[in-house]
Amino acid sequence: MAFVETPSPTVPLDALRDTDPEIAALVRAEERLQGETLRMIASENYVSAAVLRATGSVLTNKYSEGYPGRRYYEGQQTVDPIEELACARARALFRAEHANVQPYSGSPANLAVYLAFAKPGDAVLGMSLPMGGHLTHGWDVSATGRWFRSSSYGVRRDTGRIDLDEVRSIALHERPKLIFCGGTAVPRAIDFAAFAEIAREVGAVLVADIAHIAGLVAAGVHASPMGHADVVSTTTHKTLRGPRGAMILCGAEYAKTVDKAVFPGLQGGPHNRTTAAIAVALREAATPEFGAYARAVVANARRLGDELAACGFDLVSGGTDTHLLLIDLTSRGVPGKPAAKALDRAGIVVNHNAVPFDPRRPFDPSGIRVGTPALTSRGLGEEHMPRVAEWIDRVVESVRTGRDGVEEQVRGEVRELMASYPAPGLPVD
Ligand SMILES: *Cc1c(COP(=O)(O)O)cnc(C)c1O
Repeated sequence: MAFVETPSPTVPLDALRDTDPEIAALVRAEERLQGETLRMIASENYVSAAVLRATGSVLTNKYSEGYPGRRYYEGQQTVDPIEELACARARALFRAEHANVQPYSGSPANLAVYLAFAKPGDAVLGMSLPMGGHLTHGWDVSATGRWFRSSSYGVRRDTGRIDLDEVRSIALHERPKLIFCGGTAVPRAIDFAAFAEIAREVGAVLVADIAHIAGLVAAGVHASPMGHADVVSTTTHKTLRGPRGAMILCGAEYAKTVDKAVFPGLQGGPHNRTTAAIAVALREAATPEFGAYARAVVANARRLGDELAACGFDLVSGGTDTHLLLIDLTSRGVPGKPAAKALDRAGIVVNHNAVPFDPRRPFDPSGIRVGTPALTSRGLGEEHMPRVAEWIDRVVESVRTGRDGVEEQVRGEVRELMASYPAPGLPVD
């Protein structure tokens, strides 16, 4: 398929091998693992060789506290244009007036949003973690839940979809300063317009955290929060297929506030190699090939959902509009953790996950979360999804029955298939 690039050797490991054979061997082992397995962690992906190269560049040697044209260090002849390019591409791709590409990752980006728009003790509202929200949306073990008066909304029991009536009634009661929408285990499209209406009614700042779906939004496969949310935060390493990093997008009126919150509010020098790699990823994401990729991600997830449902799996909300599926394994008589561990041994990498109204404990929940971004980056298409569903079915069933040999068998089949679909950025053996 067109969006799969020819793999090319990454930065050579020779220097690493000479200096630190232990780490070199582990990196090599990770390359093998990423090559041989079916990676279905919904937040993971494969970056291109170009993105990988930028992250392994001499830009790691540079300090550049401040912003382009306003730095606290000299020697910014190349760093300034790199960051300007990254910001310009982010603004163009997401149709935002302002972009800040310096947050070290998604969690610090969200912390910067709190710093910009709220004060400790203020009320904030986010989706509850076990319902699919993120820790940084006010969950109690996170600083955001300890330093702010947070409340949370969830999904409806009957539909598995976000309960907007609940969002509105909590918002009216708590009068939050910030309302977060977006999550980590939300299979259905987020209705940004509906959240915006509630935020307007109660005078809250609406934050759309599109960390998971940024690539889908960039490609127009998921509706954009622009024009609805006051602030948009996102990671760059999930469906967007960039390096580990993050961005904050907003209107011109919030530009200064957001920039000041990131630096000097929260961070020191930006990670310039990441900025460069974000710029490369944004350039890639603006191509028609990336559009085809994003559409294939969703088509694969939908097809996989259909196939899993046909095998008797119980999908939260009945399916997906995005890149991920949340599977409630209760009806299969197997908890999420042993299922995820068995799948890992079988070469299919997923994570155990709480399902809405989960009666089990968070460390040992009822479900697993699976996603299609990484396997689609390797060129797997809808035609492969029946096979993937069948593997998951066989492995989960073997956990229930205790049947031996299934994991080894599936692992071999997975390895054989993946050998025909080389991963972007990985060296070919
Ligand atoms: C992944 C994610 C984050 C956090 O990103 P990190 O880079 O892991 O800190 C924040 N919000 C949402 C919704 C996410 O899915």
